Amino acid sequence: MAPRKLAAGNWKMNGTLAALAELDALARDHGEAGVDVLICPPATLIHAMSSRAGQGIAVGGQDCHAKDSGAHTGDISAPQLRDAGASHVIVGHSERRTDHAETDGEVAAKAIAAHKAGLVSVICVGETEAERDGGQTLDVIARQLAGSVPDCATAANTVIAYEPVWAIGTGRTPTGDQIAEVHAAMRDALVRRFGDGADFALLYGGSVKPSNAAEIFAIPHVDGALVGGASLKASDFGPIVAAL
Ligand code: PGA
Repeated sequence: MAPRKLAAGNWKMNGTLAALAELDALARDHGEAGVDVLICPPATLIHAMSSRAGQGIAVGGQDCHAKDSGAHTGDISAPQLRDAGASHVIVGHSERRTDHAETDGEVAAKAIAAHKAGLVSVICVGETEAERDGGQTLDVIARQLAGSVPDCATAANTVIAYEPVWAIGTGRTPTGDQIAEVHAAMRDALVRRFGDGADFALLYGGSVKPSNAAEIFAIPHVDGALVGGASLKASDFGPIVAAL
């Protein structure tokens, strides 16, 4: 079975209740787009968004704790995300790996917690510019995949996002050949580990915008995108959804 197509928006630390107007505009124009559309807003908006989404747009968290509850001030657990109406959660985004020193093992533990709570994990991997310049891209991706994707991952509960750190928020993107090389390597590694039927959706992320989306979606083994800046406005994200 071919992986399902997914257009995912990561709002990061942007947006207040006023931003729900963007969700409404997106739902009006693209809620039944024939592809899965996901918005991961700040945690403060998850419940408000899931309460009014319902028009074919899924809502997700941007991170979760590996434990279900306890003394972890400021953290949010996977069951809490689920309770607020989320169906997905991003784990291992490079900004979390950098800002919070998250390791592959911690990312895998978060993905396990997400799956236990019935959430789909969107597990992020990606090389830094120094790693790419040093010819280490495929090794880094292989190591992050091996360490961050738990054994309980299936195509139904896990999406993988390839996000080169140097392409996030910079306006720079890899060439089509560079994306194709990494996505083919990820597909091979996942088939080797999980078997032929393991049709994980593989997203590309990093400076995806309306003007480059169609070109990126035409690359083999690219099943969608994880979009940051261009997901904040329905007028930008809508055309990206339409290109998928
Ligand atoms: P960007 O962010 O689209 O703004 O580059 C992508 C991401 O961090 O998920």
